[in-house]
Amino acid sequence: MTEKIPQHRHCSKCGKAFLGEERFCSEECKVSNSELLKKRKRQLLILYGMTVVVLIAALLFVGV
Ligand SMILES: [Zn+2]
Repeated sequence: MTEKIPQHRHCSKCGKAFLGEERFCSEECKVSNSELLKKRKRQLLILYGMTVVVLIAALLFVGV
């Protein structure tokens, strides 16, 4: 007698096992994860912008 473990996934946010096809166990995890992604994207943009500014400043400094 073999007991089959039902098809389950682990939440991409909290890692909890749950049944279903979603990536997250709950709407709460889904929302908080998308907010985290948004925040991370913004941080990346800021970092990118700062890099560009520093590069331009360095170029100007060298060029003068
Ligand atoms: Zn979760």
